[in-house]
Amino acid sequence: MSMRIRPDLDTLPVYVPGKTFPGAIKLASNEVTEPPLPSVATAIAEAAATANRYPDNGMVALTDELAKNLGVTPAEVQVGCGSVILCQNLITVTARPGDEVLFGWRSFEMYPVATQVVGATPVQVPLTGDAVHDLKAMAAAITDRTRLIFVCNPNNPTGTVVEAQALRDFLRAVPSDIVVALDEAYIEYTRLSEPYAYDAVELRREFANVVVLRTFSKAYGLAGLRVGYAVGDPEVIAALNKVHVPFTVNSLAQAAAVASLHARDELLARTDAVVAERERVTARLRDLGYRLADSQANFVWLMLGDDAGPFAAACADAGVIVRPFAGDGVRVTITHPGENDAFLAFAEAWSQRR
Ligand code: PMP
Repeated sequence: MSMRIRPDLDTLPVYVPGKTFPGAIKLASNEVTEPPLPSVATAIAEAAATANRYPDNGMVALTDELAKNLGVTPAEVQVGCGSVILCQNLITVTARPGDEVLFGWRSFEMYPVATQVVGATPVQVPLTGDAVHDLKAMAAAITDRTRLIFVCNPNNPTGTVVEAQALRDFLRAVPSDIVVALDEAYIEYTRLSEPYAYDAVELRREFANVVVLRTFSKAYGLAGLRVGYAVGDPEVIAALNKVHVPFTVNSLAQAAAVASLHARDELLARTDAVVAERERVTARLRDLGYRLADSQANFVWLMLGDDAGPFAAACADAGVIVRPFAGDGVRVTITHPGENDAFLAFAEAWSQRR
């Protein structure tokens, strides 16, 4: 029997997360390997004890803690069930069928999918040859139908960052009533010096149309609990709050995120080891002859072209799960030396296979 499902959804791909199997080393989803800190686990357990009650729909404690940390008002913060939901909600509040959502490509896979969910049109501007956002070309692609722009910095899956001046020039070129989502899911792993250094919260003061997206899934290690947040103009935040599905950020997640902010220094200190490993792995892979983008995230991007699929499949056979993007490249999460070395051993063998 055929139901009255929207036919335009027929072409939508189903999101397929990296597959895993028992004993595999999973380097496909940019997670951290460490479990939550004891203080965070305690907060989760305490929240579980009152799980018979609905969570705080206003997410007040977490919103206030974030606002305090960021030096903004609570009216400038919206918490969501993962920043992916905030991407989707930003599209919902800005774009209708026929409108355009603009972003660089390749970038986070959910931008085109979430755009198509609301019936709007994704406009994808190719990255440069170095896998960096081409902000000039993106500015040139703005039309009178553009309603939202994503700039993913560092970009998923390439890890690349834009120059601060290029970002400022771009923001000057964007009409001030078009929201620009600066997706900083991986910002804690950047070590930005000139000409890349910028402060998103400061930038947002300069450009009221900028909305910064961040997440607790990566450096804060709470991927399984689903918490992200947006920082933006109160007008945009109020709109996001209207489409927020009630109670979607559960009480365990809210408590864990607050406890993680209290342990912020300890959690962020861990990123130093990942950054050092990223540099080591990048150097080794380049020595082996691989072409890599300059990553500032907790993953590296191997530009393998048509070899991407076969490389990832053979890597899985060797017990290491990485993320292929067919015909383009492979994204590999950086964790601790033992796991990274397991990947390097495969990469070395692959480079010598012929
Ligand atoms: N933005 C980017 C660029 C991402 O890579 C991800 C996760 N893969 C997200 C947003 C969403 O993260 P989450 O929903 O876990 O907060």
